[in-house]
Amino acid sequence: MRAARVVSAGKWEMTRIPIPKTGRGQVRIKVMACGVCHSDLFIASGGAGDVFPRVPGHEVAGIVDEIGEGVTRFKLGDRVGMGYFGGGHCGECYDCLHNSWVTCKKVGGCGVTYDGGFAEYTVAPHDALAKIPDEIDFLQAGPFCCAGVTVFKSIRDAGLKGGDLVAVHGVGGLGHLGIQFARKLGFEVIAISSGDAKEKLAKELGAHHYINSSKLDVVGRLQALGNIKCIMCTAPAKEAVEELSKALGFNGTLLLLSIFSDLSVNPMQIITKNQSIVGSYSGDSRDTEATLQFAANQNVRSMIQVYPLEQAEECLKNISQARFRSVLKIGEF
Ligand SMILES: [Zn+2]
Ligand SMILES: [Zn+2]
Repeated sequence: MRAARVVSAGKWEMTRIPIPKTGRGQVRIKVMACGVCHSDLFIASGGAGDVFPRVPGHEVAGIVDEIGEGVTRFKLGDRVGMGYFGGGHCGECYDCLHNSWVTCKKVGGCGVTYDGGFAEYTVAPHDALAKIPDEIDFLQAGPFCCAGVTVFKSIRDAGLKGGDLVAVHGVGGLGHLGIQFARKLGFEVIAISSGDAKEKLAKELGAHHYINSSKLDVVGRLQALGNIKCIMCTAPAKEAVEELSKALGFNGTLLLLSIFSDLSVNPMQIITKNQSIVGSYSGDSRDTEATLQFAANQNVRSMIQVYPLEQAEECLKNISQARFRSVLKIGEF
């Protein structure tokens, strides 16, 4: 099968490797499409250790093509997606017993501990897979399995109530989904980005308000809209996040979805306004399935650019210039 593979840190090859076989508890996916994620760049450059040779790709969408012994939840031909959560949760550790599969230490990473979706086939533990509703095509499904679930789960579980004021900082790969999910979940949505260029798009995606963060007094303008209950931070911008955090209202949550070096906040403000700083680490296959179903029901769509598998390396190298999400079209459909 064709595969875009990383041979050693930063060194790619377009190659042919044998089609993998399923073992007990595993499912083989004929990959139709795979989204390209910033984390792939991290993994390919050796950030997750010397895991090479490795086929990256953890926004997989495809069709169940072979089923291993003991798997009952899937049948041949099912449309399935898979994200960074690589399955294999133990069901016995503290995290699993408290229903957090993603943080179980036994869990693998798709495209990290085993070969992922930048190839025509991939094999994964069955608990890594989510069913894709018919309304969502393969190209759309890929990005929902990582970017989508990260955003959706974080805000679904943030303890907000309908009508709450939610600010989304950044109108990019995560932010454009954040605006849509926040709107469709019933919040009053404020999109924040530098410049005026993204105002039209942000409002088309569902933002009620738009704030250009390069103009003066972002904090004052946010607070003028009311009690800010949540600020979803999707851009790796330390200074901007520190400034925005000052606008957080009573019982507010600063929701961190993007990694940057460190963060300085005012403890007096956090304490006296009863605020929280919360991280949200992707989601498991159940969260991914919920994300895909919500997207289907509520017509949430990712904005994508499509490339052939052969351009995987190039696509990743240019990811910082990518408009929203890039997806590799791998199968024929
Ligand atoms: Zn990812
Ligand atoms: Zn566990």
